[in-house]
Amino acid sequence: MMKSGNGTCARCGQTLSKGGMSRHLLATLGQGEHTLLSVSSPEGPWWILAVASPEALLSDLDKLLRETWFEAAGHQSDFTIKGVHFEDSPLSGWMASSRSADVEIESVLPTGTVLTYRYDFTNTTHLHGKALGLVNGGNDHLTILARNDDVAWPCRACDNEANAVCSACGAFSCGCTDACPACGASLDQVAIPVINSPRMGIGGFRGPGEVPSGEEA
Ligand SMILES: [Zn+2]
Ligand SMILES: [Zn+2]
Ligand SMILES: [Zn+2]
Repeated sequence: MMKSGNGTCARCGQTLSKGGMSRHLLATLGQGEHTLLSVSSPEGPWWILAVASPEALLSDLDKLLRETWFEAAGHQSDFTIKGVHFEDSPLSGWMASSRSADVEIESVLPTGTVLTYRYDFTNTTHLHGKALGLVNGGNDHLTILARNDDVAWPCRACDNEANAVCSACGAFSCGCTDACPACGASLDQVAIPVINSPRMGIGGFRGPGEVPSGEEA
């Protein structure tokens, strides 16, 4: 099994695809003043469906994505919505095309609006997002209602479920060989854990909140 991409509803426990979950949440939450957002990776099975209160800021979404999927190394990130860049501390002057991400999600993402997100401008992870509709929500600024379940990736050598990914070439391994089944590097040196994140295997990433090997916090 690989790339299932199904997720579990935090409210009722149903397992659905991202599209099915979007429809399920729109139908069961009912119309309100909170924004239902989808954020997903174009490169894999990773997605999040979250609800944003009218007060929630784009910078809150940045924080949520960092806490859920990214490391503590604190790389730069930005959003692009309708050609406008939003980032944490926009430069003034010659780069004045950027705006501060401290802006209400509701005001820049009316229903149907799409966004792109970049994390780390060197080893960039790209995400796509969309405002799916206005629904009822709780008091929190931003709450994850569903995300993709852990994905079982097959070992390149034997097809058993992998527990490590090669940081040199991205191949999966279950530990049945000492060397990476794809590039031959010693797994002692290159293996990093399989994690539920579009950042898996990139830059020595070991899991949300962890500083990648070889990088300063
Ligand atoms: Zn549900
Ligand atoms: Zn194996
Ligand atoms: Zn390898």
